[in-house]
Amino acid sequence: MSIESDNAKENVKDIVDKCIKCGMCNSLCPVLKIVREEQSSPRGKAILLDSNYFEKLIYECSLCKACESKCPLNLKLCEAFVNARKVLVLSKKECVEGKEMIKNLNKSGNIYGEIESD
Ligand code: SF4
Repeated sequence: MSIESDNAKENVKDIVDKCIKCGMCNSLCPVLKIVREEQSSPRGKAILLDSNYFEKLIYECSLCKACESKCPLNLKLCEAFVNARKVLVLSKKECVEGKEMIKNLNKSGNIYGEIESD
């Protein structure tokens, strides 16, 4: 593991350690409204990350921060999810779509891999 990955993991831990699992954040989550499974909820992801479970489920978040507006502790869950994704990328465990976007970004400067014409 790299220092960057360790720092990202520490940031995730700092945030999810404080979570009291109240579930207030679930009410505004647009992903949960569609998926309807606790593991895909903000609280569900916080529980998984608190158990040191960094998995592709972390990509099931639009990073809209709706959950943060409801959290009584003002936890920055989206920051934790971004850093959890960083851990996955640095350990080469990102999702197929993520790999494709990274490849396109490196190739063309945008996630679609399209070269701009004048
Ligand atoms: S609202 Fe905050 S404290 Fe409650 S479960 Fe969600 S992240 Fe944790």
